[in-house]
Amino acid sequence: MHHANKNSPAPLILRAVFSAAVLLLSVFHFAPSALNAQALDQLYTAAPAIEIPLAPPPQNATVYNAAPGFNVFFVSVGQGDSEYIELPNGENVLIDGGPDSSETGGLAKFLSQKNVTRISHVVLTHPHADHYKGLQYVFSHLKVENFYDTRMDNTGTSADEALRSQAKTLGVNLVYPAPGDKLSWGPGGVEAKVFNSCPLAVSSGDGKAVNNCSITIRLAYQNASVLFVGDSQSDVEARMVETFGAELRSDVLKVGHHGSAHSSSDPFLAAVQPKRAYIEVGQNNYGHPTQSALSRLQKAGAAIFRTDLDGTLEFPEAASFGPAPLPAQ
Ligand SMILES: [Zn+2]
Repeated sequence: MHHANKNSPAPLILRAVFSAAVLLLSVFHFAPSALNAQALDQLYTAAPAIEIPLAPPPQNATVYNAAPGFNVFFVSVGQGDSEYIELPNGENVLIDGGPDSSETGGLAKFLSQKNVTRISHVVLTHPHADHYKGLQYVFSHLKVENFYDTRMDNTGTSADEALRSQAKTLGVNLVYPAPGDKLSWGPGGVEAKVFNSCPLAVSSGDGKAVNNCSITIRLAYQNASVLFVGDSQSDVEARMVETFGAELRSDVLKVGHHGSAHSSSDPFLAAVQPKRAYIEVGQNNYGHPTQSALSRLQKAGAAIFRTDLDGTLEFPEAASFGPAPLPAQ
């Protein structure tokens, strides 16, 4: 009920026009090798997913209506994190799985509603139950190609080891990204850069230490960018600001640690400058999201969205799939 009907006629026509334009551009770009059957086949299978505006948007355009090939879902999973991303090249990404490993859990329901049976890239930001439990469901029921993990061993549980050995048994390709790495989630125009992780073996039962290993990734496509920070806390935020500075700037922020007081620090928000802030949160005893984090986000100029109030949220919003804004001139 939160989204306008995607299938209204005007957007469909525009999508068709865009797809046709992209096909033409692609053929020219790849000529002459594109004329072999395999390349043509790839073009046609890729075409529906790649929909770009014909003209670059004007500078004052809102950021959230020009990247329809790049869709991010902040899945409502209760108190925990799970973000599902459709990439313009037809691949998909799942960042964390939320706190429920059952077939009736929020993530399982979301994936089956969307008929997702295969995930190209699964990321476990850090080994806490509100992030990995849903991945147990994913590894058991879906085909996973690549698994991005930290080498943080949470000594408070053996469930993280169990998940990791399940991935190994299944033969999933395992990646330990390091800060500064660019992930090859193209071709298709999506840039994926890692700003934080724990690629070297480390172990702790301390919640903060485990949080601070969170794989932090910025995805950028055309004029839209989204920063996923897991449960990174303010000291890691400070380190990222020091190391990467303006590279952190992103239109959309997946708010750190469910809106905890110890994340979303002022200097970090000053570097990110988010226009939209999405909080993955459910009923909890931690006071998430905290008033202090909400105030800092508001002060930074971000519109705040919460899965506990609004259910699963989508960026760009389905309602904004309509015409791209006309060029200013
Ligand atoms: Zn968490």
